[in-house]
Parts: sequence; C-alpha cells; structure tokens
Amino acid sequence: MHMYSRRTALKLAAAHPILICGADRKTAPKYDVKDAKIEFHCTAGYPTRWKQVYENTLNHFSKTWGRVGPVHVFLIENSDWEVEASSPTQTQRLKTSQAELKRLFCKLQGQDSDGQHLDWKTGNHWMSWNIQPANLMITMTMSPYRDAEQFVIGPIHEYLHAYQTVYGYAAEAIQGNQMGHSRWTGPAWWREGSSVLVAALYSYQHPDLYAKLKAPFSWRRFSHEMNRNLDFYQNSEAFISQGVTHDDWQRLEQKKLVHQVIYAGGSVACAQLIKKSGSLKNFMKFFPLVPTLGWRKAFEKHFNIGLEEFYEEFKEMAQTATVQLNDNPRKKNWCSFLSSID
Ligand SMILES: [Zn+2]
Repeated sequence: MHMYSRRTALKLAAAHPILICGADRKTAPKYDVKDAKIEFHCTAGYPTRWKQVYENTLNHFSKTWGRVGPVHVFLIENSDWEVEASSPTQTQRLKTSQAELKRLFCKLQGQDSDGQHLDWKTGNHWMSWNIQPANLMITMTMSPYRDAEQFVIGPIHEYLHAYQTVYGYAAEAIQGNQMGHSRWTGPAWWREGSSVLVAALYSYQHPDLYAKLKAPFSWRRFSHEMNRNLDFYQNSEAFISQGVTHDDWQRLEQKKLVHQVIYAGGSVACAQLIKKSGSLKNFMKFFPLVPTLGWRKAFEKHFNIGLEEFYEEFKEMAQTATVQLNDNPRKKNWCSFLSSID
C-alpha cells in the first residue's frame, strides 16, 4: 500500500498548509467506474481452458453491473498443481515466469522491487489495491484440478471487492491507514459478506457460467451453503458488529472465528439486506452512493434503516432462523426468497 499515513498527512498539513491541498489531489483515488481495463497476466503455459472460464465469468458479471478498474488479474500456476510431478524444466519455466510477474505486480503498486516477499503458494485467491498509481490486483493461485468451482464463483467474489474499493469513500481513502479501512469500504462483515452472497447468488442465477464445469450451482447447493453459513454463525455465539475494523479482524483471528463471523455471518446479514432491497439490481445500486456519502450514511439511506437498528433486527433474525442443511420442503427455509429473487 503506497499512500500517506494519517500522521504524515497531519504533519505535512501543519508545516505546509498549501502543499497538503496539492498532495490531497495527488493521492485521491483515480479508479474507473466505466469501461475500465481488465488485464490478464498468466504464468507461461497457463491452461487456456481455465483462463477462458475465469475471463468469461468476469466479462459476464462486469457487463451486467459495470466495468470497474483498472483490474489486473494474475493467474498463477504452481508446479504442485498436477498429480504427476512436473519435470524440472517445467518447474524452472514456472519459476522464471512467476519472477517476471512478481516484478510487474510490484510496479503496479508503485514499488521498485523484485517481489521476493510475495507468497504465491497454491490455494489462494485475493484482491489488493493501490491508490497511486490507481490499480486493483486480483491474484489467483488455486488449481482448477482441485478447485474448479473457484474459477466461476471466485472471480465474482474478488471482483466485488474491486467494486467496494472503486466505490470507496475517497476522503477516508486519502487519509487511510488500516483503521480507516472500515470507514472507506465498509465493515469487514459487509465486505466479505456481500462478496460471498453476491458471488453465490449470481452463480446460481446464471447456470451458463458453469457450461464447462461438471454441474451448475443449483438451488440445492446454494441453499445448503447459506444454511451452512447460518449454522457457522449461530455456533460462533458472536455478532457481526464484532467484525468491523482491522483490529476486530485480528481479535477474531485469535479466537479462530474470522470465517464464522465475517464471512458466514456477513453473508447471512447481506441476504437480509438483499431481501430489503427486493432485487440484486437494487442491492447493487448501493455502491455508487458511497463515494459522496461515506459508507454508513449510504447504508442508512439505501437500506432505509439505522446501522444499530439493523444490528438489532439481524440479531433477532439470526437467532430465530432454523438451519436446514437438507432443504426439507416441509419446513420453511429462511432463505427461500433467494431462489426467486431477480
Ligand atoms: Zn473476500
């Protein structure tokens, strides 16, 4: 992350009241919300079929909801992907192309570094960002031979993080340190919860995205996942409002509750918010409100409820809903509205 820390900015402001105005302009995020560039950077010999599945998903989703960016997608193969061991030549070839891509990754972050500190081991997928130069980077190291699903549901999840960042609250971004993060792009439960929910809902609504995979993301699977998330959340005996800031994340990590509260609880809370919105389309209209209003005001205006009031309402909902892992039609499924929402 390359930006002024809050302390440096304040010091500069005191010493050079004019200079800080220039610095503010210089560091304001310059992301694109329309026709943005999405560029792919793959290791040598990356399997074309899986690059296409990934690319197709991103194009499909961004065509529907708007193309934000610039996004740089790093598709990284490792030599431990296949069951059979790679030959020494293949291993060397991957190593060399990874080294080139690591250097490029650092350049996009405005750093002159060879990127040796970057850990690109198999099994990860994440989004990172930089304010100046304004770039969003998605790094994918999962193996399609083990996690094929993640080439459809995964890119949507990560691209939603790009949305959250591009439509972040610029005033907070400039002064941003880790603590400012939740005021910039929203509480941790919202960031991960909306990514988990929108990725699953969109995948369920568009079985064509799964044309090259074994089976689409059926209602049965979607419902199972949402009920499993409710189950995790109920068992955590914690609350989403304990998963807001960077410090909250660290505290939950110590208790091994990050997944249960921030991801699982967050996705159930976002299901509740999508119910209020009436459609995915209305839900997505939230994002463009953030840059001018800030996350909290935008939330209260768009969902027409105070944040504390929503926490109370959600507490009640999450406590009373019954987990149904088998989608038993005799019992009412708390998330059945998701099966037919637009
Ligand atoms: Zn995420």
